[in-house]
Amino acid sequence: MNNLMDYNFHSHTWRCKHAQMVDDEEFVKAYIQNGFKTIAFTDHTPQHPVIDPRKNIRMDFDQLEDYLTSIENLKAKYQDQIDIKTGLEVEYLPELEPFYDSICDRLDLMILGQHFIRRPDGTLVVMGSEEVNDEDVERYAHMVVAAMEKGKISLVAHPDYYMLNRTTFGPAQKKAACRICEASLRTGIPLEINLLPPYKLNQGIIDKVTYPCADFWKIAAEYGVHAIYGLDTHHLPQIGNYKDSIETARKLLSPAAIDRLHFVR
Ligand SMILES: [Zn+2]
Ligand SMILES: [Zn+2]
Repeated sequence: MNNLMDYNFHSHTWRCKHAQMVDDEEFVKAYIQNGFKTIAFTDHTPQHPVIDPRKNIRMDFDQLEDYLTSIENLKAKYQDQIDIKTGLEVEYLPELEPFYDSICDRLDLMILGQHFIRRPDGTLVVMGSEEVNDEDVERYAHMVVAAMEKGKISLVAHPDYYMLNRTTFGPAQKKAACRICEASLRTGIPLEINLLPPYKLNQGIIDKVTYPCADFWKIAAEYGVHAIYGLDTHHLPQIGNYKDSIETARKLLSPAAIDRLHFVR
């Protein structure tokens, strides 16, 4: 595996309220300039009703049509230069399934970006928050595996997202990694090495990367899972800087582990 990418199946737009405020077309132009041949727009799915308590995290429900139309127009305009796919980054909860069932025919793909879990008492817990405990990590793995088994997900973005803001990789974290890797092998759904934190590290935007997580990917390497890099593009410079991001990810995760993964692209 060299560090060249001509694909990216994880890309956001201004509508999510935390990405760069530029027209969707600017991202397409940047991908073309950097030699990308296939990309997917996978902005954070809207929710109706909204259940995720985080602010500025996803498009409004009434922006969905504009989003889909914009991508269709760009697909047609740039069809000779780049293959553009229409997608959404979704979280799995049973109550969100009817919406995903209703929208999937209009999408080329859905990627899973599980950012929260629900406890049996109904509490929604956002990964990365201080209240996340080992049982929540187990619930996270359960949700991710359930989503994979439903068969609508094309890849799992940042499968190690449960390590956000965490440094301890204990038995619960290890068990979660094993469950997710086992499900990936069983379903054939690839796991994404997320390149957004390595990019932020290179830019001096953060000083510590907790995912992608070396302990997680060491287990993934032992399983020999199918893997894919994802830029998780929120800002134009991520596209031109992708080689540095891959290089940093390799250093963080150990090249030996990365080389044991089966890259699907
Ligand atoms: Zn985002
Ligand atoms: Zn994303």
